[in-house]
Amino acid sequence: MAKPKVFVTRVISERGLKIIEDFCNAEVWQDELPPSHEALLEKVRGMDGIVSMLTDRIDDEVMQAAGASLKVISNHAVGFDNIDVEAATARRIPAGNTPDILTDATADFSFALMMAAGRRLLEGDRYVREGQWKTWSPSLLLGVDFKGTTLGLIGFGRIGKAMARRAAGFDMRVIYYDPLEPRPDPDIKAVGVELDTLLEESDFISLHTPLTPNTRHLIDSAALAKMKPTTVLVNTSRGPVVDPEALYQALKERRIFAAGLDVTEPEPLPPDHPLLTLDNLLVTPHIASGSKTTRDKMSWIAAQNLLAGLKGQHLPNCINPQVYAK
Ligand code: NAD
Repeated sequence: MAKPKVFVTRVISERGLKIIEDFCNAEVWQDELPPSHEALLEKVRGMDGIVSMLTDRIDDEVMQAAGASLKVISNHAVGFDNIDVEAATARRIPAGNTPDILTDATADFSFALMMAAGRRLLEGDRYVREGQWKTWSPSLLLGVDFKGTTLGLIGFGRIGKAMARRAAGFDMRVIYYDPLEPRPDPDIKAVGVELDTLLEESDFISLHTPLTPNTRHLIDSAALAKMKPTTVLVNTSRGPVVDPEALYQALKERRIFAAGLDVTEPEPLPPDHPLLTLDNLLVTPHIASGSKTTRDKMSWIAAQNLLAGLKGQHLPNCINPQVYAK
């Protein structure tokens, strides 16, 4: 029997790729840069499955271009704002993502960003490398404390809760805002509050929502204006959850203390972007889930979702289970 045809939009970890290549006739996009939308439309033609990255816009046009053969879309990410889920569901194409296995790696990184921005690690590093370190000084690069302060989590799902667990070790009080979270985890000490309370009371604010119409620019100038001048803002969710112009003004005018961003709007952030002129901003290139073992596991789950879809089985991690409704 002929092997199913699949398009993998980037070279992923060998652990998942090998499974895919053994089972399928796989075409793997080899470039460092993702395929353009036009290239994607061309490459998916006649495919049975697609393994996509968060950089690929998988819209109705792509599904149309793939044609009637398309049985599954497997996203190599937990976030799936790059996929038109409604269109996939309308076409009864199951789509998968890679939750849970990246939770700890992403929370570790979010915590690292929070500490690095709060304690000015990168400014210190630059200071040394630029030859400015002349002596010890009582007032050099002073940061903020963690113990006894309040961490506000916007989005209290898997990664938000993992942040709360880490904060307990730092003796921080944790509050969260999550309109869709039905009840808190009894093992985690955290109090649900309204968004305004969180913005006003938090010393650290970390964003862990998906990107949806409701969360796009959730952190705008009005939200930033409610924060304390000592607040550190961290975003590892999706770039457009924060309005970049509003953040630039707030950081420049020192209306908040610092920000740590792993995700930006746009992505990649161009080197001449105004945000990059600021000392109190730390930015990384969307690498929060980027540990070796986590990426191995992500590729494995993406492969499992793909193979299940190709075999007509339920995806282990399906984002549109409505496709299975009778
Ligand atoms: P999750 O679904 O477990 O949690 C998301 C939470 O956000 C849910 O509890 C949901 O109720 C809540 N939420 C939805 N709309 C909200 C709103 N308007 N206000 C406040 N809360 C809202 O997802 P997760 O596994 O914790 O991942 C969260 C997001 O993190 C992903 O969607 C993805 O975009 C992002 N992420 C980024 C990286 C990275 O490398 N930077 C890695 C992993 C995940």
